[in-house]
Amino acid sequence: MRPGPAGPRVLLRRLREVMAEPIRPQDRLDKIVNQIASNMVAEVCSLYVLRSDSALELFATEGLNLEAVHKTSLQLGEGLVGLIASTAASLNLSDAKTHPAFAYLPETGEEIYNAFLGVPILRSGRTLGVLVVQNKAQRVYTEEEVEALQTIAMIFAEMIVGDELKVLLSKEKQLARQRATTISGISFADGLGLGHVVLHEPRVVVTNLISDNPNSELDRLDNAISAVRLAVDSMLSRRDIAATGEHREVLEAYRMFAHDRGWVRKMEEAVQNGLTAEAAVEKVQNDMRARMLRQSDPYLRERLHDFDDLAYRLLRQLMGKENGKVEDEIKDAIIVARTMGAADLLDYDPTRVRGLVLEEGAPTSHVTIVARAIGIPTIGQAEDVLTLVEDGDAIIVDADMGEVHLRPPSDIEAAYADKVRMRAKRQSRFAELVYVEPISKDGVRIQLNLNAGLGIDVENLDKTNADGIGLFRTELQFMIASSLPKLAQQQDFYEAVLNKAGEKPVTFRVLDIGGDKILPYMRLTTEENPAMGWRAIRLGLDRPGLFRVQIRAMIGAAKNRNLRILIPMVTDISEVSAARDLVQKEIAHALRYGHGLPSRVSFGVMIEVPSLLWQLDELMELVDFVSVGSNDLLQFLTACDRGNARLTNRYDALSKPSLLALKSILDAGVRENKSVTLCGEMGGQPIEALALLGLGYRSLSMNPSSIGLVKATILEADIKALTVEVESFLASPEQLSLRQRLTDFAQKNHIPL
Ligand code: PEP
Ligand code: MG
Repeated sequence: MRPGPAGPRVLLRRLREVMAEPIRPQDRLDKIVNQIASNMVAEVCSLYVLRSDSALELFATEGLNLEAVHKTSLQLGEGLVGLIASTAASLNLSDAKTHPAFAYLPETGEEIYNAFLGVPILRSGRTLGVLVVQNKAQRVYTEEEVEALQTIAMIFAEMIVGDELKVLLSKEKQLARQRATTISGISFADGLGLGHVVLHEPRVVVTNLISDNPNSELDRLDNAISAVRLAVDSMLSRRDIAATGEHREVLEAYRMFAHDRGWVRKMEEAVQNGLTAEAAVEKVQNDMRARMLRQSDPYLRERLHDFDDLAYRLLRQLMGKENGKVEDEIKDAIIVARTMGAADLLDYDPTRVRGLVLEEGAPTSHVTIVARAIGIPTIGQAEDVLTLVEDGDAIIVDADMGEVHLRPPSDIEAAYADKVRMRAKRQSRFAELVYVEPISKDGVRIQLNLNAGLGIDVENLDKTNADGIGLFRTELQFMIASSLPKLAQQQDFYEAVLNKAGEKPVTFRVLDIGGDKILPYMRLTTEENPAMGWRAIRLGLDRPGLFRVQIRAMIGAAKNRNLRILIPMVTDISEVSAARDLVQKEIAHALRYGHGLPSRVSFGVMIEVPSLLWQLDELMELVDFVSVGSNDLLQFLTACDRGNARLTNRYDALSKPSLLALKSILDAGVRENKSVTLCGEMGGQPIEALALLGLGYRSLSMNPSSIGLVKATILEADIKALTVEVESFLASPEQLSLRQRLTDFAQKNHIPL
């Protein structure tokens, strides 16, 4: 097999003629495989198409038994063809039969062929089929031949996604696309969203694949690259992005990639091989995606994803389409994507986006962090969603339940529309309470604080009129950066947060990384039990450099202001002393170098590990305040993974053991005159909040969306009566949870829940 003198160009030109002929789809396929075989001097050329039932069906062949066409199929992963489809990687073998994955299909008559070259047919990150050539002679195909076959595979990709082959495809896929379907995924950002599908990467069919004039195509490519580079530059200089800082890192990486020579060279080569500029972009994008699929290192995967993103922008530039454009008539967009970058999400007009569905993604990926920060209900790992949706389909994102309802029946749609309306009504009622102080019926003022982690979160202080930020999760800045933030970057960030917060106090929690919060650029070994592993302060004390730089940045940022530092995941009070000593060293360092100091440094510890419950008095002596991390505390108290949906609500947070643990913390604080607050999710839920008030808690920190609801609850609550209720439960032999008693109490006292 030898490509013609002009590489695949001659073949591509012939194929274009075949594409233009007015013949039946099957005849066209047959002609194409015949042309490929003869041009490449191969005895066999076969096309396999991936059906929606994951079978790869033989659609056309030159050389194999024609009787097998549309009859033979292989499952994904089965045989060499199945292996190529499942790995999205080419296979080049001189003796196919000796490969462990070889599967013998007697009906095809392929046993006489030894050499085998198969390439995946890829389109927008999906495998659509496999293209194979075979020869009797035992030979290894050259790199150019592999390239040539990959280029030709693109023609099939376009035919498969286009309309023509649909008549040959099983009816099942067509039907599946019209039915109402529910897809389960993982909730990445809570909420409900009703709307219509906007495919992030609409299926732009690159109809013009083959060019006669490589020079003019090279010019088009160059111009498009320049335009995309300019667009990335101007995005970087956008004021809101420059100011918030954290997205900048991500975009800086983009800029670097947009100037990558190797990437540009590969696209230029594809143009020289006879493809149009857009087909060349797509081809290189396919290679990139195949590599991405095989890459297990999360950091490198994310980087390859950046290239993927850029290629998409380039493609849209060449096809004259804008990024992040939601058609004017769509006011309720639910964006559906395989995965996307944080910058992509920011391209959309947030007032029109009601939800986000990702086929892949991770709870800690950049786009998820940003979606959560701007309050877009998001579901990730929604398997196969892209094969089932069409642009404009009706869709419901129920991120509370982790479900996506596609083309919902009218009764489901009506039920959800009702829910959304109720929520909106409740939100507007809470909006009226923004400037009302959270004072209980019997006159007790409760401190309501916010949990935050990104620069944009701080804006919620004004929106909710909360008392301050009770928990600032500093790890988020680290998680969305592409490299470890330097001292100056950290300091600038904390300073910006303090500036935005003004007079209101901010409690900065020291890095809680490790566990499931992995920094892509920091290589930590995989742990069997990451939640109980080398994380947070354990890592901080073993890597004091990291810890001290962060404290130095905080001290520098809080000059002449109050600085509140919070230490996560403390297990033993010796860790408190050690962390305190390091903070003290940093204060001494700032003094020695005349850097100026905060007017006051308050030192706090999170109570998240049950062992602290038996060291409370000693702990209180060492700290200025404590904050209960009930998410982790209850996870460890009940030995229940907080992220495991099957265990949600299995053990009640209002059971006697949990309440006794929470009470012992508060009592120790009162004894030692130290302030106690709680910043886990339970503080943001009304019944739980009532229980905490009844236990004596007077300060809670929660997500911004909970402030209104909890405030409305407090306004109607009589704390004295609540205390009696909680104490009588704790003193009674009754073992069931406090939940029912409090629900009855709330109903009797007209407390909104
Ligand atoms: C907690 O554990 O309750 C907490 C607030 O910390 P995080 O959710 O960040 O682990
Ligand atoms: Mg925690």
